[in-house]
Amino acid sequence: MLGLRYFACAGCETVFALPEAESRCPRCDAAGLEEITDRLDGDVYFTRSTAPGTR
Ligand SMILES: [Zn+2]
Repeated sequence: MLGLRYFACAGCETVFALPEAESRCPRCDAAGLEEITDRLDGDVYFTRSTAPGTR
């Protein structure tokens, strides 16, 4: 892990990989980025090499 966290902007629907939380969207300046790190961590798209139950 690189220590990046993932945030989705409700305004432009862009997902950002950031080292820490930002208060505003870097792209459209909308407030309220939603952290989706946990959601992505449980997604097979990002954890394809880790089979369930092998942690
Ligand atoms: Zn945005």
